[in-house]
Amino acid sequence: VDVDIAELVDSAIERSRTDAEAKQISLRGRTDGDLHVLGEPDQILAAVSNLVENAVAYSPEGSRVAVVAAAKDSRVQITVTDRGIGIPQAEIERIFERFYRVDPARARTTGGTGLGLSIVKHVAASHGGEVKVWSEPGQGSSFSICLPRHETASESEAYVGNETDDADRVVEPLP
Ligand code: ATP
Ligand code: MG
Repeated sequence: VDVDIAELVDSAIERSRTDAEAKQISLRGRTDGDLHVLGEPDQILAAVSNLVENAVAYSPEGSRVAVVAAAKDSRVQITVTDRGIGIPQAEIERIFERFYRVDPARARTTGGTGLGLSIVKHVAASHGGEVKVWSEPGQGSSFSICLPRHETASESEAYVGNETDDADRVVEPLP
């Protein structure tokens, strides 16, 4: 199924809107261009929503979270960036494991199960994509899901339309 990335980014943000408002977090989304991927819309939405949910959950009140989708080579990259607590380098490879949570003491206050990122990784892999992380304790985190870009039906329809226009045009008789 064709998935419109601009719509998906809006939906993911909508899902975390109340949580963000409760912490006065500015939550913004941007999609550069007409981006589409091929896949399971519910799964991809769940993956991006999990990243947005984490960004809001692990950020202080009054901070900012940005979701940016852009084309990168033949892929679509959806990046969620926060200015939150960050993740120690030594923990980064483990956060994608099921039920793994960094520092149970801080995790207790956010009350998750530790499944979110394992779902993100699974969805990316099953769609031929990958997940990238950058994080610095005390600075923030940035998670990207990269998925193969799908050239849209509307673009090819537009092309067929132009061809029809050409065919309908009255051909000038040769002199
Ligand atoms: P769940 O998503 O199942 O409700 P969770 O958020 O604890 O629970 P994951 O989303 O898998 O589980 O994240 C695993 C751990 O990685 C989190 O407990 C947290 O310690 C850390 N983490 C994830 N995202 C961020 C982030 N944006 N900033 C800081 N730490 C994060
Ligand atoms: Mg989570």
